[in-house]
Amino acid sequence: MRPTGKLHLGNYMGALANWVKLQDQYECYFFIADLHALTTDYADTSQIASNTLEVALDFLAAGLDPKRCTIFVQSQVKQHYELPLLLGMITPIGWLERVPSYKEMQENLTGKDLTMYGFLGYPVLMASDILLYQADFVPVGQDQQAHVELTREIARRFNQFYKLDGQEVLPEPKVLLTPSPKLPGTDGRKMSKSYGNTVLLTDPEHVVRQKLKTMVTDPARIRRSDKGDPDKCPVGDLHKVFSTPETLAKVYDGCRSAGIGCIECKGWATDALVQVLQPIQARRASFSGAQVEQILEDGSNRASIRAEQTMLEVRAAMQMIRTAPAAQ
Ligand code: SF4
Repeated sequence: MRPTGKLHLGNYMGALANWVKLQDQYECYFFIADLHALTTDYADTSQIASNTLEVALDFLAAGLDPKRCTIFVQSQVKQHYELPLLLGMITPIGWLERVPSYKEMQENLTGKDLTMYGFLGYPVLMASDILLYQADFVPVGQDQQAHVELTREIARRFNQFYKLDGQEVLPEPKVLLTPSPKLPGTDGRKMSKSYGNTVLLTDPEHVVRQKLKTMVTDPARIRRSDKGDPDKCPVGDLHKVFSTPETLAKVYDGCRSAGIGCIECKGWATDALVQVLQPIQARRASFSGAQVEQILEDGSNRASIRAEQTMLEVRAAMQMIRTAPAAQ
């Protein structure tokens, strides 16, 4: 995950909540991708270090446990600088230019000049992030599948060129599709930091209440007496994700018959959100900054050891290890 600052409910439901389950099923590596932040924020790096700590805190708050998974910072594992360079030598530029997010981000981030070598190459960085751990699976949403597919292509190309004792070195990772429920932000669009429509994992109850008060609803309900439809309302979508079946039934009933008002309905949605946020916030408060730093250092050391195992094989397969000249 990129260090974009404090995480929001969309990040939690789209990734973190699933990762917390995965840590008991697989040997997992989760990292904060501060090198990736440089591909777009190269001109102002002042927030990257503090944002990295915030994201680490949110990882821990969500329930990632450093005893059950490895949590690390990308830039602290030096092999993340080495493998992209080597893989970059064999990755055709055409493969990078056709990655869907390459054009999309250039169009959307209009205030930034993204005609950079680093930005074009970020899928190689991403492929390296995966291949360094010889990963079997990558937990991603639908929109990230293209990156994993490119990673597989790069691994395949590497394995065609180089082998170690006749064996392939980089296994092709598979996609582990993450269920990510539709989570609207307060303006009804997808919850996203760039839209400014988020509910943060750190928002206290009164802030959540305030944010939901102004949330858009079914446009058909202009007056209290108008009937509405939760299936056409972003607040209804929140209820579907967070509320109990009983509350959801009351919402459908009350909205469609105009028996409840939107204020009341939003109050129930807030109650459900607060139930989810409270344990996350309590866990966050239990970690000191020094503890988080230590967890990241330990995790980065563990990740370095695993990544170096792969790099020994990669360097040997590419014959990048100098051998001593034979004795006369
Ligand atoms: S009652 Fe609830 S679901 Fe219906 S329009 Fe209002 S906020 Fe949306």
